[in-house]
Amino acid sequence: MANIPRLLVANNDGDIIDCPEYAMTGLTGIEPELPYHLIPLPEGSTLYTLPGRLPIGFDEKTGKKIVLKHYLDEPVQAVAAFVAPAYTQLMRPAFEKTAGAPLLPLFCYTAVGWKNDKFWIPAVRIDKSKRQDANQFSEKKIKTGAKGLLKRFPKNRLVKHLMETCCLKYRCPAARNFALGRWEMPLPTSRACNSKCLGCISFQSTKKICSPQERIGFAPSPDEIAEIVIPHFENAEQPVASFGQGCEGEPLTEWEIIEEAIKIIRYETKKGIINLNTNASYPERIARLAEAGLDSIRVSMNSARGEYYEKYFNPADYKFADVVESIKIAREKNIFVSLNYFVFPGFTDQQDEWNALENLLKSPGVDMIQWRNLNIDPDWYIEEMGIDFTAGRIGIKQVMDNVRENFPEVRFGYFNPYIVPVSD
Ligand code: SF4
Repeated sequence: MANIPRLLVANNDGDIIDCPEYAMTGLTGIEPELPYHLIPLPEGSTLYTLPGRLPIGFDEKTGKKIVLKHYLDEPVQAVAAFVAPAYTQLMRPAFEKTAGAPLLPLFCYTAVGWKNDKFWIPAVRIDKSKRQDANQFSEKKIKTGAKGLLKRFPKNRLVKHLMETCCLKYRCPAARNFALGRWEMPLPTSRACNSKCLGCISFQSTKKICSPQERIGFAPSPDEIAEIVIPHFENAEQPVASFGQGCEGEPLTEWEIIEEAIKIIRYETKKGIINLNTNASYPERIARLAEAGLDSIRVSMNSARGEYYEKYFNPADYKFADVVESIKIAREKNIFVSLNYFVFPGFTDQQDEWNALENLLKSPGVDMIQWRNLNIDPDWYIEEMGIDFTAGRIGIKQVMDNVRENFPEVRFGYFNPYIVPVSD
Protein backbone atom coordinates (compact mmCIF):
# COMPACT_ATOMS: atom_id res chain seq x y z
CA MET A 1 0.00 0.00 0.00
CA ALA A 2 3.07 2.21 0.28
CA ASN A 3 2.49 3.55 -3.23
CA ILE A 4 -1.16 4.28 -2.61
CA PRO A 5 -1.98 7.92 -1.83
CA ARG A 6 -2.77 8.70 1.79
CA LEU A 7 -6.22 9.02 3.23
CA LEU A 8 -7.63 12.58 3.51
CA VAL A 9 -9.84 13.81 6.33
CA ALA A 10 -11.35 17.21 7.13
CA ASN A 11 -11.73 18.82 10.54
CA ASN A 12 -14.74 20.94 11.50
CA ASP A 13 -12.99 24.07 10.20
CA GLY A 14 -12.86 22.50 6.78
CA ASP A 15 -9.09 22.06 6.86
CA ILE A 16 -8.10 19.04 4.78
CA ILE A 17 -5.43 16.84 6.39
CA ASP A 18 -3.51 13.85 5.00
CA CYS A 19 -3.01 10.80 7.25
CA PRO A 20 0.39 9.14 6.59
CA GLU A 21 -0.64 5.99 8.53
CA TYR A 22 -3.64 5.22 6.32
CA ALA A 23 -4.05 4.45 2.62
CA MET A 24 -6.92 6.06 0.66
CA THR A 25 -9.87 3.90 -0.39
CA GLY A 26 -12.55 4.05 -3.06
CA LEU A 27 -15.84 2.32 -3.86
CA THR A 28 -17.15 0.53 -6.91
CA GLY A 29 -19.49 -1.66 -4.81
CA ILE A 30 -20.21 -1.37 -1.08
CA GLU A 31 -16.89 -2.65 0.32
CA PRO A 32 -13.94 -0.14 0.38
CA GLU A 33 -11.13 -1.05 -2.02
CA LEU A 34 -7.71 0.23 -2.91
CA PRO A 35 -8.02 2.79 -5.71
CA TYR A 36 -7.00 2.07 -9.30
CA HIS A 37 -6.09 4.12 -12.38
CA LEU A 38 -5.01 7.18 -10.34
CA ILE A 39 -4.32 10.56 -11.97
CA PRO A 40 -3.41 13.95 -10.45
CA LEU A 41 -6.51 16.01 -9.58
CA PRO A 42 -7.05 18.23 -12.65
CA GLU A 43 -7.09 22.02 -12.33
CA GLY A 44 -10.65 23.35 -12.09
CA SER A 45 -11.73 20.50 -9.76
CA THR A 46 -13.23 21.22 -6.33
CA LEU A 47 -12.74 19.51 -2.96
CA TYR A 48 -15.70 18.85 -0.64
CA THR A 49 -15.95 17.92 3.00
CA LEU A 50 -18.83 15.46 3.52
CA PRO A 51 -20.87 16.37 6.62
CA GLY A 52 -22.01 13.43 8.79
CA ARG A 53 -19.76 11.00 6.94
CA LEU A 54 -16.69 9.34 8.55
CA PRO A 55 -13.60 8.68 6.40
CA ILE A 56 -12.53 5.07 5.70
CA GLY A 57 -8.92 4.05 5.03
CA PHE A 58 -6.65 1.01 5.22
CA ASP A 59 -4.20 0.80 8.11
CA GLU A 60 -0.72 0.78 6.57
CA LYS A 61 0.62 -1.67 9.20
CA THR A 62 -2.25 -4.17 9.53
CA GLY A 63 -3.92 -3.73 6.14
CA LYS A 64 -7.20 -3.56 8.07
CA LYS A 65 -10.05 -1.21 7.21
CA ILE A 66 -10.40 1.66 9.67
CA VAL A 67 -13.22 4.19 10.16
CA LEU A 68 -11.94 7.45 11.64
CA LYS A 69 -14.07 9.50 14.05
CA HIS A 70 -11.14 11.61 15.26
CA TYR A 71 -7.69 12.49 13.93
CA LEU A 72 -5.07 14.54 15.80
CA ASP A 73 -7.66 14.77 18.64
CA GLU A 74 -10.21 16.50 16.41
CA PRO A 75 -13.52 15.13 15.08
CA VAL A 76 -13.21 14.54 11.35
CA GLN A 77 -15.34 13.93 8.28
CA ALA A 78 -14.73 12.42 4.85
CA VAL A 79 -13.43 14.32 1.81
CA ALA A 80 -14.34 13.95 -1.87
CA ALA A 81 -13.44 15.62 -5.17
CA PHE A 82 -15.77 17.18 -7.75
CA VAL A 83 -13.79 16.44 -10.87
CA ALA A 84 -13.29 19.07 -13.59
CA PRO A 85 -15.13 18.65 -16.96
CA ALA A 86 -13.53 16.28 -19.53
CA TYR A 87 -12.69 13.67 -16.85
CA THR A 88 -14.74 10.57 -15.95
CA GLN A 89 -14.69 9.17 -12.42
CA LEU A 90 -13.98 5.46 -11.77
CA MET A 91 -14.66 5.20 -8.00
CA ARG A 92 -16.94 6.82 -5.41
CA PRO A 93 -15.57 7.95 -2.01
CA ALA A 94 -15.78 5.42 0.84
CA PHE A 95 -17.30 6.70 4.08
CA GLU A 96 -19.50 5.60 6.95
CA LYS A 97 -22.69 7.65 7.25
CA THR A 98 -23.68 8.73 10.75
CA ALA A 99 -27.27 9.16 11.95
CA GLY A 100 -28.86 12.38 10.72
CA ALA A 101 -26.28 12.96 7.99
CA PRO A 102 -27.71 15.59 5.57
CA LEU A 103 -28.41 14.85 1.90
CA LEU A 104 -25.46 16.00 -0.20
CA PRO A 105 -26.04 18.68 -2.87
CA LEU A 106 -26.24 17.81 -6.59
CA PHE A 107 -22.56 17.47 -7.31
CA CYS A 108 -20.48 14.44 -8.30
CA TYR A 109 -18.38 12.92 -5.49
CA THR A 110 -15.18 11.04 -6.36
CA ALA A 111 -12.57 9.34 -4.12
CA VAL A 112 -9.44 11.46 -3.54
CA GLY A 113 -6.08 10.93 -1.78
CA TRP A 114 -2.72 12.65 -1.24
CA LYS A 115 0.81 11.69 -2.38
CA ASN A 116 3.99 13.53 -3.42
CA ASP A 117 2.42 16.89 -2.61
CA LYS A 118 -0.51 16.24 -4.95
CA PHE A 119 -4.15 15.21 -4.78
CA TRP A 120 -4.91 12.01 -6.73
CA ILE A 121 -8.23 10.63 -8.08
CA PRO A 122 -9.31 7.38 -9.83
CA ALA A 123 -10.41 8.81 -13.16
CA VAL A 124 -9.66 9.06 -16.88
CA ARG A 125 -9.41 12.10 -19.18
CA ILE A 126 -12.14 11.18 -21.69
CA ASP A 127 -12.12 14.29 -23.90
CA LYS A 128 -9.04 16.08 -25.29
CA SER A 129 -11.01 19.27 -26.04
CA LYS A 130 -9.78 22.06 -23.81
CA ARG A 131 -12.99 24.08 -24.16
CA GLN A 132 -13.80 23.90 -20.45
CA ASP A 133 -10.29 23.65 -19.03
CA ALA A 134 -9.86 26.12 -16.16
CA ASN A 135 -6.71 27.66 -17.69
CA GLN A 136 -8.65 28.70 -20.81
CA PHE A 137 -10.66 31.44 -19.11
CA SER A 138 -9.54 35.04 -18.53
CA GLU A 139 -11.98 36.86 -16.19
CA LYS A 140 -11.03 40.22 -17.71
CA LYS A 141 -11.69 39.11 -21.30
CA ILE A 142 -14.96 37.43 -20.26
CA LYS A 143 -16.23 40.64 -18.64
CA THR A 144 -15.26 42.65 -21.74
CA GLY A 145 -16.91 40.09 -24.01
CA ALA A 146 -20.10 40.06 -21.94
CA LYS A 147 -20.33 43.87 -21.97
CA GLY A 148 -19.74 43.87 -25.73
CA LEU A 149 -22.59 41.41 -26.42
CA LEU A 150 -25.00 43.28 -24.11
CA LYS A 151 -24.15 46.53 -25.97
CA ARG A 152 -24.42 44.92 -29.42
CA PHE A 153 -27.80 43.21 -28.68
CA PRO A 154 -29.51 45.61 -26.22
CA LYS A 155 -33.03 44.32 -26.89
CA ASN A 156 -32.16 40.60 -26.99
CA ARG A 157 -33.55 38.95 -23.81
CA LEU A 158 -31.52 35.79 -24.46
CA VAL A 159 -28.23 37.74 -24.49
CA LYS A 160 -29.27 39.44 -21.23
CA HIS A 161 -30.01 36.03 -19.61
CA LEU A 162 -26.83 34.41 -20.97
CA MET A 163 -24.52 37.24 -19.97
CA GLU A 164 -25.99 38.54 -16.71
CA THR A 165 -27.12 35.18 -15.25
CA CYS A 166 -25.31 32.28 -16.95
CA CYS A 167 -21.94 33.93 -17.67
CA LEU A 168 -21.39 36.42 -14.84
CA LYS A 169 -23.48 34.77 -12.04
CA TYR A 170 -23.39 30.99 -12.65
CA ARG A 171 -20.00 31.11 -14.46
CA CYS A 172 -21.34 28.57 -16.99
CA PRO A 173 -18.37 27.55 -19.22
CA ALA A 174 -20.55 27.51 -22.37
CA ALA A 175 -21.86 31.03 -21.69
CA ARG A 176 -18.30 32.20 -20.92
CA ASN A 177 -17.09 30.76 -24.23
CA PHE A 178 -19.93 32.62 -25.98
CA ALA A 179 -18.74 35.86 -24.31
CA LEU A 180 -15.25 35.05 -25.62
CA GLY A 181 -16.65 34.43 -29.14
CA ARG A 182 -15.49 30.81 -29.47
CA TRP A 183 -16.48 27.14 -29.43
CA GLU A 184 -19.83 25.93 -27.98
CA MET A 185 -22.53 28.52 -27.09
CA PRO A 186 -25.68 27.72 -25.01
CA LEU A 187 -29.27 28.29 -26.23
CA PRO A 188 -31.73 27.77 -23.36
CA THR A 189 -35.36 28.02 -24.57
CA SER A 190 -37.67 25.95 -22.32
CA ARG A 191 -39.31 26.55 -18.96
CA ALA A 192 -41.10 23.20 -18.81
CA CYS A 193 -40.08 19.55 -18.86
CA ASN A 194 -41.92 16.27 -19.39
CA SER A 195 -39.46 14.40 -17.15
CA LYS A 196 -38.89 14.74 -13.41
CA CYS A 197 -35.35 13.54 -12.96
CA LEU A 198 -34.26 12.62 -9.47
CA GLY A 199 -31.13 14.76 -9.91
CA CYS A 200 -32.57 17.58 -12.01
CA ILE A 201 -30.21 20.57 -11.73
CA SER A 202 -32.77 23.16 -12.83
CA PHE A 203 -35.86 22.17 -10.84
CA GLN A 204 -36.33 20.16 -7.66
CA SER A 205 -39.90 19.55 -6.37
CA THR A 206 -38.63 17.74 -3.28
CA LYS A 207 -37.87 19.91 -0.25
CA LYS A 208 -34.92 17.65 0.56
CA ILE A 209 -32.58 19.40 -1.83
CA CYS A 210 -32.31 22.56 -3.97
CA SER A 211 -31.44 22.74 -7.67
CA PRO A 212 -28.10 24.48 -8.40
CA GLN A 213 -29.69 26.61 -11.14
CA GLU A 214 -33.03 28.32 -11.75
CA ARG A 215 -34.84 27.72 -15.02
CA ILE A 216 -34.97 30.45 -17.66
CA GLY A 217 -38.15 32.52 -17.15
CA PHE A 218 -39.13 33.11 -20.78
CA ALA A 219 -39.04 31.45 -24.20
CA PRO A 220 -36.79 33.40 -26.56
CA SER A 221 -38.14 34.09 -30.05
CA PRO A 222 -36.66 32.41 -33.16
CA ASP A 223 -35.24 35.82 -34.17
CA GLU A 224 -33.59 36.39 -30.78
CA ILE A 225 -31.91 32.96 -31.15
CA ALA A 226 -30.86 33.34 -34.80
CA GLU A 227 -29.61 36.90 -34.26
CA ILE A 228 -26.81 35.68 -31.97
CA VAL A 229 -26.10 32.27 -33.51
CA ILE A 230 -25.41 33.50 -37.06
CA PRO A 231 -22.50 35.83 -36.15
CA HIS A 232 -21.13 33.19 -33.76
CA PHE A 233 -21.16 30.63 -36.59
CA GLU A 234 -19.62 33.10 -39.01
CA ASN A 235 -16.80 34.27 -36.71
CA ALA A 236 -16.11 31.81 -33.89
CA GLU A 237 -13.45 29.07 -33.81
CA GLN A 238 -15.12 25.61 -34.07
CA PRO A 239 -18.63 27.00 -33.50
CA VAL A 240 -21.35 24.82 -31.95
CA ALA A 241 -24.71 26.13 -30.71
CA SER A 242 -26.54 23.87 -28.25
CA PHE A 243 -30.20 23.87 -27.26
CA GLY A 244 -30.86 22.08 -23.93
CA GLN A 245 -28.90 23.59 -21.07
CA GLY A 246 -28.69 23.11 -17.30
CA CYS A 247 -30.73 26.27 -16.75
CA GLU A 248 -33.86 25.08 -18.55
CA GLY A 249 -36.40 22.28 -18.91
CA GLU A 250 -36.70 20.03 -21.98
CA PRO A 251 -36.12 21.93 -25.28
CA LEU A 252 -38.50 19.63 -27.21
CA THR A 253 -41.34 21.32 -25.30
CA GLU A 254 -40.45 24.44 -27.39
CA TRP A 255 -39.74 22.54 -30.64
CA GLU A 256 -41.63 25.00 -32.91
CA ILE A 257 -39.46 27.93 -31.76
CA ILE A 258 -36.35 25.80 -32.28
CA GLU A 259 -37.53 24.62 -35.73
CA GLU A 260 -38.12 28.20 -36.86
CA ALA A 261 -34.77 29.37 -35.44
CA ILE A 262 -32.89 26.56 -37.23
CA LYS A 263 -34.54 27.49 -40.54
CA ILE A 264 -33.52 31.16 -40.16
CA ILE A 265 -29.94 30.18 -39.21
CA ARG A 266 -29.54 27.68 -42.06
CA TYR A 267 -30.98 30.19 -44.53
CA GLU A 268 -28.17 32.60 -43.58
CA THR A 269 -25.22 30.24 -43.02
CA LYS A 270 -24.11 26.63 -43.55
CA LYS A 271 -21.34 27.03 -40.98
CA GLY A 272 -21.31 25.70 -37.41
CA ILE A 273 -23.02 22.79 -35.71
CA ILE A 274 -26.57 23.07 -34.40
CA ASN A 275 -26.90 20.62 -31.51
CA LEU A 276 -29.79 19.60 -29.25
CA ASN A 277 -29.22 18.27 -25.73
CA THR A 278 -32.46 16.42 -25.01
CA ASN A 279 -34.34 13.65 -23.23
CA ALA A 280 -35.39 12.61 -26.79
CA SER A 281 -38.93 11.93 -25.62
CA TYR A 282 -40.77 12.95 -28.87
CA PRO A 283 -39.49 11.04 -31.95
CA GLU A 284 -41.73 13.00 -34.33
CA ARG A 285 -40.33 16.33 -33.13
CA ILE A 286 -36.78 15.05 -33.54
CA ALA A 287 -37.71 14.18 -37.14
CA ARG A 288 -39.05 17.70 -37.78
CA LEU A 289 -35.95 19.37 -36.35
CA ALA A 290 -33.72 17.10 -38.43
CA GLU A 291 -35.59 18.17 -41.57
CA ALA A 292 -35.17 21.82 -40.54
CA GLY A 293 -31.35 21.44 -40.42
CA LEU A 294 -30.39 20.12 -36.97
CA ASP A 295 -26.90 18.52 -37.08
CA SER A 296 -26.55 16.57 -33.85
CA ILE A 297 -28.41 15.45 -30.73
CA ARG A 298 -27.18 14.42 -27.29
CA VAL A 299 -29.55 12.05 -25.50
CA SER A 300 -29.44 12.00 -21.68
CA MET A 301 -29.51 8.54 -20.09
CA ASN A 302 -28.63 7.19 -16.63
CA SER A 303 -29.21 3.64 -17.83
CA ALA A 304 -29.77 1.65 -21.04
CA ARG A 305 -32.22 -0.48 -19.02
CA GLY A 306 -35.74 0.91 -19.38
CA GLU A 307 -36.80 0.18 -15.79
CA TYR A 308 -33.88 2.13 -14.30
CA TYR A 309 -34.20 4.90 -16.90
CA GLU A 310 -37.84 5.42 -15.96
CA LYS A 311 -37.07 5.21 -12.24
CA TYR A 312 -34.63 8.12 -12.62
CA PHE A 313 -36.35 10.23 -15.31
CA ASN A 314 -39.95 9.77 -14.08
CA PRO A 315 -41.25 10.47 -17.59
CA ALA A 316 -44.67 12.19 -17.68
CA ASP A 317 -45.84 11.31 -21.20
CA TYR A 318 -43.29 9.02 -22.78
CA LYS A 319 -41.48 5.70 -22.32
CA PHE A 320 -37.86 4.54 -22.70
CA ALA A 321 -38.94 3.00 -26.00
CA ASP A 322 -39.69 6.50 -27.34
CA VAL A 323 -36.13 7.56 -26.53
CA VAL A 324 -34.75 4.59 -28.47
CA GLU A 325 -37.15 5.40 -31.36
CA SER A 326 -35.86 9.00 -31.42
CA ILE A 327 -32.27 7.74 -31.68
CA LYS A 328 -33.32 5.42 -34.55
CA ILE A 329 -35.02 8.26 -36.45
CA ALA A 330 -32.10 10.64 -35.90
CA ARG A 331 -29.65 8.07 -37.27
CA GLU A 332 -31.87 7.46 -40.29
CA LYS A 333 -31.78 11.22 -40.95
CA ASN A 334 -27.96 11.39 -40.70
CA ILE A 335 -28.05 13.26 -37.41
CA PHE A 336 -24.92 12.71 -35.28
CA VAL A 337 -26.15 11.01 -32.09
CA SER A 338 -24.35 11.18 -28.75
CA LEU A 339 -25.34 9.53 -25.50
CA ASN A 340 -25.09 11.76 -22.42
CA TYR A 341 -24.34 8.66 -20.33
CA PHE A 342 -24.43 9.37 -16.58
CA VAL A 343 -21.56 7.38 -15.05
CA PHE A 344 -22.05 5.95 -11.53
CA PRO A 345 -19.44 3.37 -10.42
CA GLY A 346 -21.18 0.27 -9.08
CA PHE A 347 -24.20 0.73 -11.40
CA THR A 348 -22.96 1.76 -14.87
CA ASP A 349 -20.47 -1.13 -14.76
CA GLN A 350 -22.96 -3.84 -13.78
CA GLN A 351 -22.88 -6.79 -16.19
CA ASP A 352 -26.60 -6.31 -16.91
CA GLU A 353 -26.06 -2.61 -17.66
CA TRP A 354 -23.24 -3.46 -20.08
CA ASN A 355 -25.48 -6.04 -21.79
CA ALA A 356 -28.22 -3.42 -22.20
CA LEU A 357 -25.77 -0.79 -23.49
CA GLU A 358 -24.33 -3.35 -25.91
CA ASN A 359 -27.82 -4.02 -27.30
CA LEU A 360 -28.45 -0.29 -27.71
CA LEU A 361 -25.11 0.11 -29.53
CA LYS A 362 -26.00 -2.81 -31.80
CA SER A 363 -29.37 -1.26 -32.62
CA PRO A 364 -30.12 1.57 -33.23
CA GLY A 365 -26.50 2.43 -32.40
CA VAL A 366 -24.95 5.82 -31.57
CA ASP A 367 -22.00 7.83 -32.92
CA MET A 368 -20.55 8.89 -29.59
CA ILE A 369 -20.74 8.26 -25.85
CA GLN A 370 -20.16 11.23 -23.56
CA TRP A 371 -19.13 9.57 -20.28
CA ARG A 372 -20.38 12.16 -17.84
CA ASN A 373 -20.26 11.93 -14.08
CA LEU A 374 -23.65 11.73 -12.36
CA ASN A 375 -24.12 14.70 -10.00
CA ILE A 376 -25.98 13.23 -7.04
CA ASP A 377 -25.67 12.08 -3.40
CA PRO A 378 -24.42 8.51 -3.98
CA ASP A 379 -26.43 6.91 -1.19
CA TRP A 380 -29.62 8.68 -2.32
CA TYR A 381 -29.15 7.36 -5.87
CA ILE A 382 -28.42 3.83 -4.63
CA GLU A 383 -31.55 3.92 -2.47
CA GLU A 384 -33.88 5.43 -5.10
CA MET A 385 -32.64 3.14 -7.88
CA GLY A 386 -32.60 0.09 -5.57
CA ILE A 387 -29.12 -0.82 -6.80
CA ASP A 388 -28.25 -4.46 -6.03
CA PHE A 389 -24.53 -4.70 -5.34
CA THR A 390 -24.59 -8.48 -5.36
CA ALA A 391 -25.08 -8.24 -9.15
CA GLY A 392 -21.96 -8.87 -11.21
CA ARG A 393 -19.82 -5.80 -11.98
CA ILE A 394 -16.97 -5.39 -14.46
CA GLY A 395 -15.55 -1.91 -13.63
CA ILE A 396 -16.08 1.36 -15.53
CA LYS A 397 -12.75 1.03 -17.38
CA GLN A 398 -13.76 -2.45 -18.57
CA VAL A 399 -17.08 -1.12 -19.91
CA MET A 400 -15.14 1.52 -21.87
CA ASP A 401 -12.71 -1.12 -23.18
CA ASN A 402 -15.66 -3.34 -24.19
CA VAL A 403 -17.15 -0.48 -26.22
CA ARG A 404 -13.80 0.25 -27.87
CA GLU A 405 -13.32 -3.43 -28.73
CA ASN A 406 -16.83 -4.22 -29.97
CA PHE A 407 -17.84 -0.81 -31.40
CA PRO A 408 -14.60 0.85 -32.53
CA GLU A 409 -16.58 3.42 -34.58
CA VAL A 410 -18.16 4.88 -31.43
CA ARG A 411 -16.36 8.05 -30.36
CA PHE A 412 -15.62 8.83 -26.72
CA GLY A 413 -15.82 12.29 -25.18
CA TYR A 414 -17.40 14.67 -22.72
CA PHE A 415 -18.46 17.57 -24.97
CA ASN A 416 -20.60 18.00 -28.07
CA PRO A 417 -18.09 17.65 -30.90
CA TYR A 418 -17.49 20.32 -33.53
CA ILE A 419 -16.46 17.93 -36.26
CA VAL A 420 -19.46 15.86 -37.29
CA PRO A 421 -20.48 14.55 -40.73
CA VAL A 422 -23.11 17.09 -41.86
CA SER A 423 -25.66 15.55 -44.24
CA ASP A 424 -25.54 17.33 -47.57
S1 SF4 B 1 -34.80 16.16 -18.52
FE1 SF4 B 1 -33.44 17.81 -17.81
S2 SF4 B 1 -34.76 19.52 -17.27
FE2 SF4 B 1 -36.02 17.67 -17.42
S3 SF4 B 1 -36.17 16.91 -15.34
FE3 SF4 B 1 -34.48 15.87 -16.35
S4 SF4 B 1 -32.65 17.09 -15.86
FE4 SF4 B 1 -34.44 18.34 -15.44
